Amino acid sequence: MNNRKVSIRFWGTRGSVPSPGRCKTRYGGNTSCVEVVLPDSRLIILDAGTGIRELGNDLIRRSRKINATILLSHYHWDHIQGLPFFAPAYNRAHTLTVCGCRHAQFPLEKIFSSQMESIHFPVKSSSLAADIRFMQLTPSSASIDDADLAVMRANHPGITFSFALGFDGRKIVYMTDNELLPAVRLARSHIPYDRGEFIRFIKGADVLIHDSQYSDREYRSKKGWGHSPWKEAVRLGAESDVRHLILFHHDPDHPDSIIDAQVQECRKMIRSLDVSMKCSAAQEGKEVCL
Ligand SMILES: [Zn+2]
Ligand SMILES: [Zn+2]
Repeated sequence: MNNRKVSIRFWGTRGSVPSPGRCKTRYGGNTSCVEVVLPDSRLIILDAGTGIRELGNDLIRRSRKINATILLSHYHWDHIQGLPFFAPAYNRAHTLTVCGCRHAQFPLEKIFSSQMESIHFPVKSSSLAADIRFMQLTPSSASIDDADLAVMRANHPGITFSFALGFDGRKIVYMTDNELLPAVRLARSHIPYDRGEFIRFIKGADVLIHDSQYSDREYRSKKGWGHSPWKEAVRLGAESDVRHLILFHHDPDHPDSIIDAQVQECRKMIRSLDVSMKCSAAQEGKEVCL
């Protein structure tokens, strides 16, 4: 095995709310959670939706001493709800560094305890025996576990971060919960973000994991909810010279068949744009290697 490989594995791909069902067995029903393993087994977890529960169980099977950095894009339920079910948090052998944005009304340290208040949860947060550290992020560049980390704000209600991880010449961008407006239909002055800034942030990524929750038609009635029409994710990826666009944060009402059709539509669009970007949809349990 190439020990310089970077592995990306999806444990939760769904947006908004867990939505298991017979028609979702391939793409999965768990909410956002992506495992990134750097060479030498260093572990970064992107978001802690319900997918992190099964990841935790798997990590315990793989390792007696887990050292993980958890990057939280924001604190909407579908990105944090798996934390109280993350088994490594209950074992003193493990170390977790939880990173997220500074929020005036919600200190990062409460990310576990508020979900474990007795009205919501039967186990007290004092049962969390792992060495849990907290790190506040700001839009900037930093270094975690020898990887370069760049952070920028996404276009989403509340403070939401996107992450660019760089390691050994490889670049992964995680940009979930980001609303790209159909720029062709809007005057530039109406766009509440700097598209050029997004492009600079993403530029040349080997993998871009991007929100692609809606069709153009669905988007029309969901403007301002903080999610993108999938064609806009394609457009941004193509403009940013991305090698592989991975559609993410699937709508809870979309069965596998709709996501399959979405991928086909995106590939057709990529061909018409005459770029060589690969496109697939994030699938629970699937690994992408760089
Ligand atoms: Zn979300
Ligand atoms: Zn959100």
